[in-house]
Formats: sequence, C-alpha cells, structure tokens
Amino acid sequence: MNDAALKPQTQTEHSARAAVLLPLPLEGAYDYRVDVALPRGAIVAAPLGSRTVLGVVWGEADGAVAETRLKSAAPLDGNPCLPAALCEFIDWMARYTLTPPGIVLALALRARQAFEAETPRVGFVRGAGTPARLTPARSRVLALAEDGLARSIAGIAEEANVTPQVVRGLIDSGALEKVSLPEFLPLPLPDPEFAPALLNAEQQLAAHELCARLSTGTAGVSPASPKAKKRAAGTAAVPGEFSATLLDGVTGSGKTETYFEAVAEALRLNRQVMILLPEIALTVQFLERFAARFGCRPAEWHSDLSPKERRRVYRAVLAGEARVVVGARSALFLPFPELGLIIVDEEHEQAYKQEDGVIYHARDMAVVRARIENCPIVLASATPSLETFVNATSGRYHWLKLPRRHGRAVMPEIRLVDLRSVRVEPGTWLSQPLRDALAATLANGEQAMLFLNRRGYAPLTLCESCGQKMVCRSCSAWLVEHRYQRRLACHHCGFEMPIPLKCPHCEAEKCLIACGPGVERVAEEFAAAFPQARAAIASSDTMHGPLETQAAIRAMAKHETDVLIGTQIVAKGHHFPRLTLVGVVDADLGGSEGDPRARERTFQLLHQVAGRAGRAERPGLVLIQTRNSDDPVMGALASGDRDAFLEQERAARERVSAPPFGRLAAIILAGADGDAVRNAGRVLARAAPKARGVKIWGPTPAFYQLLRGRTRERLLVQAERSVDVQAYLHAWLDRVKLATGVRMAVDVDPMSFF
Ligand code: ADP
Ligand code: ZN
Repeated sequence: MNDAALKPQTQTEHSARAAVLLPLPLEGAYDYRVDVALPRGAIVAAPLGSRTVLGVVWGEADGAVAETRLKSAAPLDGNPCLPAALCEFIDWMARYTLTPPGIVLALALRARQAFEAETPRVGFVRGAGTPARLTPARSRVLALAEDGLARSIAGIAEEANVTPQVVRGLIDSGALEKVSLPEFLPLPLPDPEFAPALLNAEQQLAAHELCARLSTGTAGVSPASPKAKKRAAGTAAVPGEFSATLLDGVTGSGKTETYFEAVAEALRLNRQVMILLPEIALTVQFLERFAARFGCRPAEWHSDLSPKERRRVYRAVLAGEARVVVGARSALFLPFPELGLIIVDEEHEQAYKQEDGVIYHARDMAVVRARIENCPIVLASATPSLETFVNATSGRYHWLKLPRRHGRAVMPEIRLVDLRSVRVEPGTWLSQPLRDALAATLANGEQAMLFLNRRGYAPLTLCESCGQKMVCRSCSAWLVEHRYQRRLACHHCGFEMPIPLKCPHCEAEKCLIACGPGVERVAEEFAAAFPQARAAIASSDTMHGPLETQAAIRAMAKHETDVLIGTQIVAKGHHFPRLTLVGVVDADLGGSEGDPRARERTFQLLHQVAGRAGRAERPGLVLIQTRNSDDPVMGALASGDRDAFLEQERAARERVSAPPFGRLAAIILAGADGDAVRNAGRVLARAAPKARGVKIWGPTPAFYQLLRGRTRERLLVQAERSVDVQAYLHAWLDRVKLATGVRMAVDVDPMSFF
C-alpha cells in the first residue's frame, strides 16, 4: 500500500522558515522557524502563546517577522503530511465561503488524536520456557498458542477456557512471552471481485461508462479529444481525469449496484474511493450491502464515531490503507493521498448543506474536490436537484439514465386523496381511502409506511381558554409536544419542559390542547384503528436518537414491523421488499414563502417517499393526502412526469434569475441585543457598494427572528451569474466593523431561508 504520505522528508542542514497555517480564525499563515525544509502540507507542532497547537506548513514564509521573534515549529513523529490536493481544496473552499482558511483547515484536522504517537497493544505468544507442571488447563493454553497468534491475557483465558491466573502463571514461567502489537489491526481490504452483481442491460451500460471514465480519462462531453484517444490506446490504465456524471435512475433501478461497479474498478486501479451519504441513519443498510458486494465493510466517517475510531480511520486514510470511506459531509476533508473516485448518493438531499460553522454544500464542494483531485465524481439521484439537472441537460455533466426498476418491480401507482372532498373526522388524520388501503395491505401480509414530516405528537399546543400559544422563550418558534416523554420541546435550541398542568399565561387548568399532527399522534390514531398491527415510529428526533431509528429500520427490513410511521428519515434510500403501501399523511407541509426551492423540495421528498413502495415483486400503491390537488407539484407526482416538472421549475427560476441562473448569498446577523443587531443591519445595507448586476435585499427580520436567544436579521445578495460574488462580498464586508456582540454569518448559495 502507498505510504508516501508518511515518508520522512529529506533533511537539510540549516534551519529554514515556513508559513504555517493554524486551525484558528486567523487571517492567514504565521511564520515559524523549522529545522528542516518542510513541504506544503507537513503537519507540525507550533507554539502559540503558552500552548502548542497543530499547524500545517502552507507555503514559503514571507519573512515579515524578525528572526529574533520567530518561534520554532517541529514536525510530528513519522512526518505526517496532508496531501497537496487537500491543501488546495482548503484554500479554494476558504475563498468561496469567505471563511478564514484556518477555520476550514480545522475541519481537516478534527481528528487531532490521529497525530498522537501510537500506543502499542500488548499481546502474548509462545515463549521458550517450559512450565514446571503441566496441568490440563496449562496444556490447553499451550495448544492454543501453537498457532503463533498474539493474544491478550483475557483473550487467551477466554479462548482456552482457563482463568487469567493460569495465563499469568505461564507468563511467569516464560512459557508465554510478551510482544507489542500495532495499536490497530489493519482495516480489511474490500475485494472488487468478491460478489459482483449480475447487472441488467441498462445497468451494465451505465456501469461500463462509469468505469471507462476511471481510467481512460475521457473527460468532458467530447471523449474524442486527441489526448483521451492516446491514453485509451495505451495498455496500462492511466488514472482518470475530472468528470462529473449524473446517475439518474428511478427509485429501485439499482443505482447503488451500478456505481458499486465503478467503486470496484477504482479498487482494481488502486485508487481510494469516497462515498458520501446524506444521513448517518442511512449507512446501516448501506454498510451491509457494501459488505455483501465487497466482502467487508468500508471505513466509516461521521460524527458518531468514538475518538478512537476517528483516530483509526483518519490514520488509515492518510496512510492509504483505507481504500473506501463511506461518510457524511465531513468526510470531504479527509486526507486521501490516492483519491480516484467520489460518489455523492442522493445528491439532491438538503442534508448535504452544512448550516453551522463553515457554511457549505457538501455536494458542490465534492465536485470541487474531484476537480482538484482530477478524478471522476458520480452524483446519484432519482430526483436530481435543479442545479444538477441543468448541468446534465446542458451537457456540462454526463447523464446516465436508469429508467426502469430492476427485475420485475414496476413503479408504484400514485393516487391523490383530495382532503377537500374526502372528509376526515376532526382530530384524526387518516382518511377512509387510506384506512382501507392499510387494511388491505395488512390482510395480505404486506408492509406499509405512513409518512409525515413532523416530529413529536403535535406541532402546537395552545390554551383553549386564553388562546395563548406555547412558544420557546429563546426562539420565535412553537414548542412541540412529545407525548411519550410528557414534554414540550423546542426543535431549534433544545429547550424542554414538562407539559404544564395549567396555562402559564391565564392559569386556567386542564385547558392546553394539542393542535395538528406529528408522527406520534398518527401512530396513536393508527394503533387505535389497527390494534393488532405491529407499528413503529422512526423520526430524526433527538429524543429517539439515531440508534433507535436504526433499530426501527432494521426491524422493518426484517418484517418484524408491519407499519413504519416516520418523518423524512424513512423517505430515503431504504429498501423494504415487502413494503407495498405508502401513505403521505399531509403533503401540504413545508411550502415556505420566499424560498425558491420549496416546490422542488416538496417534489423530491414526496417522490422519494413514494419510491419506497413496491420495490420488489409485489406492486406498490401510494396515497397522497392533500388539500392542493391541482398544484403542479401534486400533478407531476401523480403523473410521474418528473422532467416536465423540472423543466417548469427551470423556466420559473430562469425568469427571475434564481439559482442556478443567478447567484445568491445571504448575510445573517445575530446577537443578544436586538437593537444592536437591527442597527448593524442598517449600517451594513448602507455600506453596500453599488455594482452592476448586484441587488441587495433587506435587512429584514429572519423567519425565526429569535433563535437560541439571539435576534436575527438577514440580508440577501442577488447577483447575475457573471458577478464574482466573493470579491463583491469581500469589498463590502471589509468596509464595515460590526458592533461587539453582533455576529455575522455569510451563507453563499443559501438553501434555507430561515
Ligand atoms: P436505487 O438506489 O436506484 O433506488 P438500489 O440500488 O437500492 O436502487 O436497488 C434496488 C434493489 O434492487 C436492491 O435490493 C438491489 O439489491 C436490487 N438490485 C438492483 N440491481 C440488481 C441486480 N443487477 N441484481 C440483483 N439485484 C439488483
Ligand atoms: Zn428554542
């Protein structure tokens, strides 16, 4: 395996200077003295004030700091070095998101423990000594030790079925001796030939094209460039070039099976692979599928890893030992020395947008990383984002289609249930047609899913006697009832309180009523109507937790659950072969005013949910309850004409120069002092430079004017495509000094308009 990244650097005699970037909010790199000339990317320990921090050699020092004031930075043991392409990516991203480069670097050094020296494990093997007495227990241990494998004391005791005391006795007599082992066992290597799928004709064609792009470097839409031809003619495989491909396949068409072939090809070519998934909850089934295809699980990277796992995976990626990493958006910053392929599954997912700290869109940044790494990227989706759709139709991206479900599965039938004509009892949410369909499904021994994009029991609690709504004191948001926990919770700041017995406002007793449904309430109604059915709730709720959600999904996959009632967490990616009915409880949620992507998002979400139905032998039915059955979004869902919908959206956005036909950037000001925040908004607006093709909107109060106790104001920059928005923002924001206590966040390409 390649260990170039860990090779010691050539030493030079005299000391040198280097510009070292620290993972801190500083304007740029600082000069340090280094004993040996270090390349860009070298990780060093650098003194800063009274502490020592990790830093990365970023380039030549500019010499501005006097020799006498220069401090010394030292390379780490083993000379770890971030790959050059990652350094370039960090710089690019810092510029694009208007973030100090050190802050972006901090994302790449988040596994700080990864750079600490190894702590070897201790194991025991057969030694030269012989024990004075050979008891049956001792014989069992010595027999076990015949295989030469090193084991811990506890391990030996367990495997030989003896007490640790017996093992210690053998150590004392020299019959077992101590050896040191590396801290981690090596990661298993995925085997590209382990269990290839038998692809259908369409999948084969798509897989073939993806594989071709990995080695022949047929980049761009015209693969017939002389350079590409020359490469293709050569015998040895040449690493690929940048190319972006939309793998556009209906739900259940086998996009995963198809891009797995590209992963296999990358492995054969000795390249590393990064696979991004939008949610951790999705990875469980994915890891198992991966293992079935490649013989072992891939390395994982997400926020739920323990510090030790983090350290292990980070080191393995850097050493080139981890060949395939599956991760959430933070995997973008891993130090792959040999990255040869990036996959972004469910590329349209909004979860790819990081909204805190460094604000970025992981899918867009993955395309940038692929460009810098000069490798192919595959974006997979059944409902591509409009941005990607436009890139595919314009020919900037390759476009591979899988128009049919694999095997005998057909696309589900989608019917709208118009709640204006179909009556539903007040306080209930499941219409008669939906109940009938549920009954029929259960009677057939099949599974169903009820979808509602609202966590908890009820989104609003109000006092019947005075009309007071229960709102969060730190956010201008309703408190959501969670009946199982008997609590009201704010989904923004995490505030929680027991459900009060009397109204906190008018003090009337037993007057608080739950308004509207959440998944818990739908589950309650379902249980009352179908007491025999096994139902489970899956929501992205912090109160249920990712493990519980994963357990619910597993139980559904094993048919230990008949009906899964869930939020958007169940909409994505899952494959439940016996699931034949999907009921969308309320399709009309979520259309937020002034959000150019609201319609697109509703369509994507409902289409994804619908796609869970009938993925195997038995046909699927989808019932969508709505009060807007004449809305084009609902029409497109029912008719299945996705491209007509996207074309319509494209035209609408083009008319108003919305993305991707124009650029947007949001500026959010927030602070505890409301007047100071509003004032800062006005000052900022007045300071905006006049520029051709740029319009400034606001300041206006944000949708949640108050969030986590902070007042929020927004400004929106709308610019023509040709405008360098980053340069404009720099010129503008450099002019203004914000009052202390007012924080500013810049969101380039905003997805959320809260
Ligand atoms: P998508 O990601 O497009 O929704 P999946 O890759 O999840 O589709 O495939 C849907 C189901 O069909 C999965 O259970 C998958 O294993 C199965 N499948 C797809 N293609 C094949 C194939 N060529 N051979 C066997 N099973 C397949
Ligand atoms: Zn709150």
